[in-house]
Amino acid sequence: MEIIRADKAGFCFGVKRAIEMAAKASKNGDAASLGPLIHNQQVVDYLTGQGIQVIDSIEELQPGAQLIIRSHGIAPAGYESAAHKNIPLIDATCPFVQKAQRLAAEASKSNMLIVVGDRNHPEVQGILGWAGSHSRVVETLEEAQRLSFFSKLAVLAQTTLPRSTFLEIVEELKSHTEQLIIYDTICNATSERQDSAAEVSERADLMIVVGGRHSSNTRKLESICGKKCPTHLIETADELQQIWFADVRKAGLTAGASTPDWIIEEVYKRMSEILENKDNEETMENFEGSLPELYRGALVKGTVVKMTHDEVYVDISWKSEGVIPQGELSAVRGTRPEEVVKLGDEIEVVVLRLENEDGHPVLSKRRANEIKAREVLAKAAETKEEIQAVAVEVVKGGLLVDLGMRGFVPASQIQPDFVADLNQFVGQTLRLRIIEFDEGKKKLVLSQKAILAEEREQEKEKLFATIKEGDVVQGVVRRLTDFGAFIDLGGVDGLLHVSDMAFSRVSNPSDIVNIGDEVEVQIISVDQSKGRISLGLKQLKTNPWDQAGTKYPVGSTVQAKVVRIAVFGAFVQLEDGIDALIHISQLADRRVGKVDEVVKIGDVIEAKIIECKPEEKRISLSIRELIADKQNADAQEDLENQPEIKEVTIGEAVLSADENEQ
Ligand code: SF4
Repeated sequence: MEIIRADKAGFCFGVKRAIEMAAKASKNGDAASLGPLIHNQQVVDYLTGQGIQVIDSIEELQPGAQLIIRSHGIAPAGYESAAHKNIPLIDATCPFVQKAQRLAAEASKSNMLIVVGDRNHPEVQGILGWAGSHSRVVETLEEAQRLSFFSKLAVLAQTTLPRSTFLEIVEELKSHTEQLIIYDTICNATSERQDSAAEVSERADLMIVVGGRHSSNTRKLESICGKKCPTHLIETADELQQIWFADVRKAGLTAGASTPDWIIEEVYKRMSEILENKDNEETMENFEGSLPELYRGALVKGTVVKMTHDEVYVDISWKSEGVIPQGELSAVRGTRPEEVVKLGDEIEVVVLRLENEDGHPVLSKRRANEIKAREVLAKAAETKEEIQAVAVEVVKGGLLVDLGMRGFVPASQIQPDFVADLNQFVGQTLRLRIIEFDEGKKKLVLSQKAILAEEREQEKEKLFATIKEGDVVQGVVRRLTDFGAFIDLGGVDGLLHVSDMAFSRVSNPSDIVNIGDEVEVQIISVDQSKGRISLGLKQLKTNPWDQAGTKYPVGSTVQAKVVRIAVFGAFVQLEDGIDALIHISQLADRRVGKVDEVVKIGDVIEAKIIECKPEEKRISLSIRELIADKQNADAQEDLENQPEIKEVTIGEAVLSADENEQ
């Protein structure tokens, strides 16, 4: 087994110079760098420990502190701003970048300048600042092909650009101008590291690239090596996995320009240990003769031969059976053996230890699941395809799902609406999309909300395209509020306002509908731009006022219940949707000071209809007139019941009087 180190790897001249300048500045007082000094978190952490802060803008700088310009450089506006504020500058711009800036400023005076590189990279943004408006960025050959024709063009490159990319684009630019001036600003440090990495990866079975995941030159090394052999990008030695070296005879090692020597040495040391361990195990293997290859991290097949309440024994054709402890059965804590295997099952396992105290190899099914899952997950992360998994546990801030490896679904990513209780999802199969997958850090974050929100949006568009005012549709009551109910019409919620629930006055929406009710409603209005749909329930019923004129003629008497009391009178309900008013002056045959002296809510009264105007939705009643009518009727009746009075003449009356005197 052999480790081949790239002879050009790690800190380049410009980065080394910037780190040294920063360290020196920190000894002279407070200092801060505009952005991370280099794309390597471990080094940034180290510098922070030395008192060098990282700031995003000059405004964040503490008064009196020195401002360190990192090796990527900045635009002239940054220098002007610092000078204007009297900020002491430590300019660690790499001399190669400074040269590119000078050329950009010069070339753009009389040519359209093409800067080939990553338009979001700070170095490119700084160079554009020096070039001014007479410049543009080209990232790819396709972009170059889309350029129009210029009489004069100048071109330069981001210092870390692969030379082949630059040459390819330069070739294309020749057909877009009469005169092309080419400035080769690619830094030797970059090309040397790339050439060296390419050369090592030709000979190696596996490449380890050490550097920051945000460092563009490190990622380019990864991409160059990845074309030749399996390649892993790591930031620290801790990320090395023994399993990577299973079939490896020669392992290559290189590092990005922002990787310090001490990290490279740690990685080299750890790789040596892994390979030495593997060598020892292989020596043992030779000694053991026909036994299969077995070493820490090996992925092997075996048959389940014994199960206890917390362990599974597997025959892996080794000296003794291997044992899977309960915690290594699956990614789900507390999984019992019978939940994942049965006797006779052929399974894959990873060797954790060659022997425990009883001489059994210690195995992990969980790790084997993880290895198999990684490939699938990496593909799903790239394609954004939907995957399904069962929620197995509620943890702080979300749910854990089992996908061969543990995945985390944040509470905010479960569904578009707020989730109050996460426990309801445990045991449920979730439809998920990967939103973050970092194999090295074993970080897997997923979202169900992304899928549901997308579907909801599609359903919404479909629904808006098919419905119109006046349509009668079916829906399910999803939510009640003080002002109405939200009805799910199939992906979109419409509002059934309380005033459109019934013709009568509704004080509480739950008097009419309840959550889960299936209802038929009419579309009153649709506003697609605001995503609003107004619904009506009463619009589907007959308006009781249509018949009120014939049902409640003036002069007739009605019995009704008092439903509301106001200062000026009492309202009674004649039927659902028709209330009538008895004015205070009509409540009794005397003067009434307060309405409730005469009637209370719930009283059933009898009154006479004295006015009926359906077009104004108004009916007036009178108790006073009813009393008067009754009194008149009684008086009339008394009169009619008096005994008959006989008619007499005056002569008969005198005679009658004389007879009485005698
Ligand atoms: S890669 Fe080259 S240009 Fe960039 S900082 Fe290092 S030496 Fe300077």
